[in-house]
Formats: sequence, C-alpha cells, structure tokens
Amino acid sequence: MPPKSAEAILLRTYAVGEADQILVFLTQGEGKLRGRAHGSRKSRKRFGGALQPLSHVRVHYFEREGHDLARIDECDLLHSYFVVQQGLKAAAYLSYVAEVTEEFCREKQSEEQFFRLLMATLAAVEAGADPAWSARYFELWTLRLHGLLPDLSACVRCAGALGSGARYAPRERGLLCKPCSCGESGLQLETGVLQQLRSFIRQPPAAVSGNDDLLVHCENFLQVLLTGFTERPFRSLRVLREMGVR
Ligand SMILES: [Zn+2]
Repeated sequence: MPPKSAEAILLRTYAVGEADQILVFLTQGEGKLRGRAHGSRKSRKRFGGALQPLSHVRVHYFEREGHDLARIDECDLLHSYFVVQQGLKAAAYLSYVAEVTEEFCREKQSEEQFFRLLMATLAAVEAGADPAWSARYFELWTLRLHGLLPDLSACVRCAGALGSGARYAPRERGLLCKPCSCGESGLQLETGVLQQLRSFIRQPPAAVSGNDDLLVHCENFLQVLLTGFTERPFRSLRVLREMGVR
C-alpha cells in the first residue's frame, strides 16, 4: 500500500516500549486513525511539537495489511491548542471533547462533518467561548451527525408538539409530550432545555451561552443520550467533576 497523508486532530497518545507512542487521530477524510509512531518520544525532527493533545496536524502514515495499527512516520504541526489548554477549565472540557470524539468517530469512514465540528469547537474555545457551553454544543452535534439525536420538536408517539413536561423514553429513543409521558419513568426535561438545544442547530458554537442551571439540565439530558450509545460513562467527565470544574 502507498504511504498516505491526511489532515487530522490528535485525540490521544500513550507510551509503549522505550521510545514509541500509540497515537489516535480523527482524520478529515478517513475517520479514526490509530497508529504506532516509532521513536516519537525521542525524535524532535519528525514529531517536534506536534504531539500535544488536540494538535491540528498533517499526519504521514502507512497502513499495513493485517495490522490494526498504521505506522505513523511523521507529523507536521498546522495549529497548536497548547496555549488555550493552559487554562484549567478549557483543558478539562477539551479533554472531555477529545474522549467523546474518540468514542464516536469510526475507522475507515469519512467523518468530514464531525471533523469540521471538532475544528469549530476548538476554534470557539480558543476565541473565548465558554468551554462548558461549547461542550454542550459539541455533544448535541455529535449525536445529530451520528443519527442519535431524537426529534426535539415532536412527540415520538403522537407527533404532537413538545412543550413543558416532556420526558425522554429510552426504549423508544424519543421524547414524549406531557400527555403521552403519563406513567413513564424516563428523564423529565426541565423548562427551557428543548428550546436551548433547538437553538444550537441554528447557531455557530461561538454564539452559544446560557445560565448555569440550564447548563446542568442540558448536560443531564445529553449525557443520557450519549451514554445510551457508549453504554459507559466518560472518564474525563468524572475527572472534571472531581476537580469541581463547572
Ligand atoms: Zn405525545
């Protein structure tokens, strides 16, 4: 197979052996890429500065028949988010965004829109958008781009409009209006959540903001949807809560 190169965001690195690292990327055209970078902990020439979390890079790699891991030959740094991650809150939320990306992006499939979403989210946080609201925006669009966001306007059972008292029905993976949700036990949505989330669909990430109560209510609902897919909680979110970051 010929060598390849792709624009990518580095999601995670972990050390293996004496000098190597496993690198996980979201590439623009081919989804998730996992590979081993031989000597990357020693070679400043081939990887210098490019292996910080969430670095935007051009990665040069080689896929080997019968191997799960590609061979990563070199990374050119296009843009670093190192400075913005010096802030504790931004660093904690962006680490969570990287974990969500890794969970949802698929290998060997174009994730063009998901790549653009991640880039837009990073740019918004770098430009000063609230990292917590940016994470909510990212969650909603992650679900939407992967066909996992329920209809936020109409009841999944009767197709009536969703007002106050709407409830999420996990079995139907949809929202119920107040009359249909009678006797159901799923999460009841607080006033304002649906309106806020619907507004995300029309806005760029930098424009998103709201009050702290609404932030928590939106988070609770989006976590139900995200973990309904992953079937496990996010490690970085637990760390974020333990740190008391809001
Ligand atoms: Zn209904």
